[in-house]
Amino acid sequence: MTLTAPPRLLLVHAHPDDESLWTGGTIARYAAQGVHVTVVTCTLGEEGEIIPDGLRELAADSADQLGGYRVAELRSACAALGVTDHRFLGGIGRWRDSGMAGVPANRHQRAFVAGGIEQQVAELTVILREVRPQVVVTYDAFGGYGHPDHIRAHDITTAAAADCADVDRVFHAVTSKRATEDGAAALADLAGLPFRLPEPGELPVVEDEQITTVIDIVGHLSAKLRALRAHATQISVWQDDTGGASYALSNGIAQPVVDAEYYVLARGPVEGTSADLFGGLGLPGGEPAQDR
Ligand SMILES: [Zn+2]
Repeated sequence: MTLTAPPRLLLVHAHPDDESLWTGGTIARYAAQGVHVTVVTCTLGEEGEIIPDGLRELAADSADQLGGYRVAELRSACAALGVTDHRFLGGIGRWRDSGMAGVPANRHQRAFVAGGIEQQVAELTVILREVRPQVVVTYDAFGGYGHPDHIRAHDITTAAAADCADVDRVFHAVTSKRATEDGAAALADLAGLPFRLPEPGELPVVEDEQITTVIDIVGHLSAKLRALRAHATQISVWQDDTGGASYALSNGIAQPVVDAEYYVLARGPVEGTSADLFGGLGLPGGEPAQDR
């Protein structure tokens, strides 16, 4: 018998689909292990590009119904990953997708980046104080690839987590240069790949020397792929008979599905973090369960 608190993981993401793209395998792995996983999504992703022709009229410059549609995609993705605790920052519909840097959507009255950062920190703090996660995940200070909403998600998470005594560690989800390059090279050998291969340096990555933590998601790739497929307005997923898999966003650039997800420890004790977000924290939990 232990009196230690059960492990709780909270991830803050900017748009529906980011939870699956950046951290889907990690979520599936820890959820399968019995960790309480909370996903906070800051906007509804209203400004996303729409891939299927039949859904194009949902777009922000047409019916402007994409955000509501993506709520359903997010629910399906969460189900695939085993997430039972999903929240929208400030309540559903509070903050709107700001779009890429410099577009008019940045100035929408509900745009996430146009909102008061103090209020957004307060809204996240309410969730953190309720959930009391030991481990919090968000993006790096560049938002992974420069999207203003991702940068804002980083900023509010950093501030809110610093003010919550229960948070032992904050991690930044990143993409490994080595894994991405190796994965992209392997895609070149696959027959029938419907996407174009990335140019060198085209996909956002970080140098592997910066990475502190590698989470093995081999046993949870099928869950991650199901979650990616759930975001059909945003992501095309391709799999062949040999187990090869790739996905592409609306830009049509092939991205590899790699066997691990990568993190940089931003705050908290480093000991035990090489392969486990909770390593060395003295919390209960055994080897992660496999879902396939
Ligand atoms: Zn995003």
